[in-house]
Amino acid sequence: MEHRPMKDVALLGSTGSIGTQTLDVVRENRDKFNLKVIAAGSSTDLIRKQITEFKPAIVIMANKDSAQLLAQEFPNIDVYSGKNSLKEVAGSCDIIVNAIVGFAGLPVTLSALNQGKILALANKESLIAAGPVVQKARRTPGAEIIPVDSEHSALHQCLRGYQTSYDAPLSSVQKLILTASGGPFRGLSREELKSVTIEKALNHPTWDMGPKITIDSSTLMNKGLEVIEAHELFGVPFGQIEVIVHPQSIVHSMVEFADSSVIAQLSLPDMRLPIAYALNYPQRNEAKWGAINWSEISKLEFEKPDTESFPCLKLAYQAGEAGQTAPAWLSAANEVVVDAFLKKQIDWIDIPHLISLALDQYDDLPARDEDDIYAADLQARLVTKQIMESK
Ligand code: NAD
Ligand code: MG
Repeated sequence: MEHRPMKDVALLGSTGSIGTQTLDVVRENRDKFNLKVIAAGSSTDLIRKQITEFKPAIVIMANKDSAQLLAQEFPNIDVYSGKNSLKEVAGSCDIIVNAIVGFAGLPVTLSALNQGKILALANKESLIAAGPVVQKARRTPGAEIIPVDSEHSALHQCLRGYQTSYDAPLSSVQKLILTASGGPFRGLSREELKSVTIEKALNHPTWDMGPKITIDSSTLMNKGLEVIEAHELFGVPFGQIEVIVHPQSIVHSMVEFADSSVIAQLSLPDMRLPIAYALNYPQRNEAKWGAINWSEISKLEFEKPDTESFPCLKLAYQAGEAGQTAPAWLSAANEVVVDAFLKKQIDWIDIPHLISLALDQYDDLPARDEDDIYAADLQARLVTKQIMESK
């Protein structure tokens, strides 16, 4: 048996959908991974159980009061709060799992890469918002992004054996083909979409995820963000990234090569597989999830996405092509609008229109450094809120 040293893992966003599934993987591999750091937003109920089970050395809470409460209850562990603590922890771990939702994940992505660490990246928003800055951080010796997002994990697996990066995309790649489940509203017309409810939008057909990404999946913005994510990860131009709807979520994505041969990655839809892939990379480890029973799979279907009913996909391509901080602007506008929808302040049908109005006000802001990204994010949020208030 090959001897592999224990790896120290930091899991930021431990109480969410990806976070708890990462803990499933760690629980099955206690001999390989030592959960050293966990971080979450504000709710203390679940994190208490996680502390008791995994005994991490460090806990970070976004919310100060929650941190204080936990510090009193668990005097033997270090409890911190705030953005700077998130930045510092990367230094003491081997693998950083970024499972925070939204732009709040940016400090983790940048600090992990700047400190030359393995970044298992679920938090796509940080890569999308800060593309050019992340690419610089990625050049730090030792730094590597292993995608956790299932489509990008699939692409990573299809491209395995080749050296691919943003700076040196593989010339023999003709196309990246991202699959999309189509979400809960696949097949509905614009007219029918006018009356969809929040309950229906939160009911995804194939994946059980956090609320923000579930809404993003219902508008196809998630797939749009994933197109930008694929561009940033693998350096393939937007014109060579295609989206195809595949309702069964068995084919997680494909790569078409110059000779038109296609390599695809398949498994049951279970996020613990791409999580385990990222944690174990470059090894592969036994996992008890996601094996396909071929006699039960009767069909795999593929269809064109409906960008008339779901314009968010087009908006994402536009922002991606525009580059600089346009993707940051798009992602921030989307966060604001989705948050308003989750609070029942706007209708589902308004989501793409509001984001489109916000993008119209994008003003070619540069993306030279981290400060530029924070400035663009802030500005986009203000503009989007103003647009919503004037409606
Ligand atoms: P979620 O809402 O279920 O969980 C989010 C986690 O982030 C929670 O633990 C929350 O406490 C924590 N958090 C929020 N703000 C924080 C802050 N400021 N500081 C520290 N922690 C904070 O979300 P999720 O569905 O697990 O998604 C997480 C990320 O993974 C998102 O970027 C999403 O797009 C991506 N992703 C998720 C899935 C999935 O199946 N859930 C699949 C692919 C990609
Ligand atoms: Mg995905």
